[in-house]
Amino acid sequence: MPDQSPALAFERVTKAYGATIAVDAVSLEIAGGSFVALVGTSGSGKSTLLKTINRLVEPSDGRVLLDGTDVTHGPAPALRRRVGYVFQNIGLFPHMTIAENIAIGLRIAGRGDEADVGALLDLVDLPRGIAGRLPDALSGGQRQRVGIARALAPGAKLLLLDEAFGALDPVTRDALGTRIRELHDRLGLTTILVTHDMAEALLLADRVLVMKAGRIVADATPAALVAGEGGDDAQALVQVPRAQADRLRALVA
Ligand code: ADP
Repeated sequence: MPDQSPALAFERVTKAYGATIAVDAVSLEIAGGSFVALVGTSGSGKSTLLKTINRLVEPSDGRVLLDGTDVTHGPAPALRRRVGYVFQNIGLFPHMTIAENIAIGLRIAGRGDEADVGALLDLVDLPRGIAGRLPDALSGGQRQRVGIARALAPGAKLLLLDEAFGALDPVTRDALGTRIRELHDRLGLTTILVTHDMAEALLLADRVLVMKAGRIVADATPAALVAGEGGDDAQALVQVPRAQADRLRALVA
């Protein structure tokens, strides 16, 4: 079922680095088509958990299933064609044009003509005219959009975003988040967004998971979190945007 939104399951996934337990026996199911935010303070294990999906991290124990199949079955490159991965300061090849950078993703999938590159630029709202430029000639936000186009180029339906908007100014960050949500809905993706920004998680996701010391300590919808549910750890994070919203409202009162 390559065209359906992929589902994920984590079965007691653990990752230890020496004495540090980065991920601690996480069991979790993520339905195909959902947009899940993984939130938590720095060092809580978000990125490590995310990377067990595309095998950038190998669990010390437990396993990850993608559409019911253990991700360690089969070669990693085949898995990574199905799993788009975008991280902060996405590494575009500096001496290759934008078109060439995107075409790498297409060539991996055995395609790669000009029309495909154009369509991918359209997808992320970039003008086709930038195809011949080098990455240096683009803004940070434009480069991240190219990274998203490249990640989706092989036809990936699972999108992993690891603080992908982290280095961007707030206006660009907000616009790109909204665009990603639109793409998620239109292409029928399953998306996992790692962020330390609870406001971003609440505004973009269908489901928010809070991580602390390698464990999932809250699992709730944005509406439930805003209504005060999800427990103390989640509410400590929700309190930040809530207090900001209150202070802004007080300015106009
Ligand atoms: P987050 O994404 O929430 O900031 P990480 O998953 O990056 O957290 O890290 C979780 C914990 O694992 C931290 O204590 C971090 O220092 C540790 N860690 C992550 N990667 C490594 C690594 N390659 N080697 C050793 N420790 C690591």
